[in-house]
Amino acid sequence: MSLGIMRTTLDQWIREKHGFDTDDRQAIESYQLARIRAVIDYAKAQSSFYRRLYEDWAVPESFDAFSQFPMIDSGDLVQHGLLMLCVKQSEISRIVTFEFPQRGAPEELTTMRTSGTVESPKRIYFTREDIELTLDFFEHGMKTLCRPGERALILFPAKTPDSVGALLSEALTRLGLTVHCEDCETAVALLREIPVDVVCGSASYLMAVSKRTEDTRVRAVLSSSESLSSEDRQSLERAWHCQIFDHYGMTETGLGGAVECDAHCGMHIRENDLYFEVVDGEGMTVPDGAMGELVVTTLTRRGMPFIRYRTGDNAILTGERCPCGSLLRRILYVKRKDSGALCAN
Ligand SMILES: [Zn+2]
Repeated sequence: MSLGIMRTTLDQWIREKHGFDTDDRQAIESYQLARIRAVIDYAKAQSSFYRRLYEDWAVPESFDAFSQFPMIDSGDLVQHGLLMLCVKQSEISRIVTFEFPQRGAPEELTTMRTSGTVESPKRIYFTREDIELTLDFFEHGMKTLCRPGERALILFPAKTPDSVGALLSEALTRLGLTVHCEDCETAVALLREIPVDVVCGSASYLMAVSKRTEDTRVRAVLSSSESLSSEDRQSLERAWHCQIFDHYGMTETGLGGAVECDAHCGMHIRENDLYFEVVDGEGMTVPDGAMGELVVTTLTRRGMPFIRYRTGDNAILTGERCPCGSLLRRILYVKRKDSGALCAN
């Protein structure tokens, strides 16, 4: 490990939770393949959509075999959402509804156990256990940039239970921080009045607040939900004299997905919960270092698992050892479909 760079906290989290060392790629890949096989079995048994989709497909013996499996996209969610459910609707704790296909917080519209509508919006369903998985990732991922006793300001709306803001708030409280969830105006006033160590928000909120609080000192910033252009990143660093940690995630990945470490060389993927692939225009897997569409498989979700889901986002992945010392795979670059800006370094 390079001197002075803290290793991503996700390594320790995965080792303690699953009992294998993340430096042992064979161990993590065996775990992932076993999970992929289990998720396919489970989805075929519980969901009529997946049962029909995989009718002629044997459970894959290898990642190569899995890379031939049919992919799904947000159109399938709109058309067949309920049929993708793997639990009874009574077991669903949260439904995130998108009136128009778009990314998650803070614009997400949320309803609890709503009845069906005439127009089919995109809906994503979570059980209590699914939400706990996200909370667990938030708690351990945020250890990278938070210290107990610090003060954090969250710029995501947090009133809706289990929204990004609410879950982040809960995770940071568990880590021993004092947490404020504020709108733009109150956030500006707060930053002018008292020292804040950590600020979390979407790129646009961070930019809006930082422009009005220049020369405030913030130690660390988590940028999420939207792309942060390198230009905005630099002006945010200048305004708050802060270290910035980018996060990639979407509602489909369970909100959390991958988070930057102290080395700031891409975002480490939560590989215990997610399997990422990159494919070209023909749907063929491309090697590490090449750009293509990011395809995600959820390894641990119960309510509505996603198997080979096309995100619409373009990305470059790497499995090379990070300067922080970790072998956890990273997103080196991502271009989100709803934004032309770059996200990672
Ligand atoms: Zn790292």
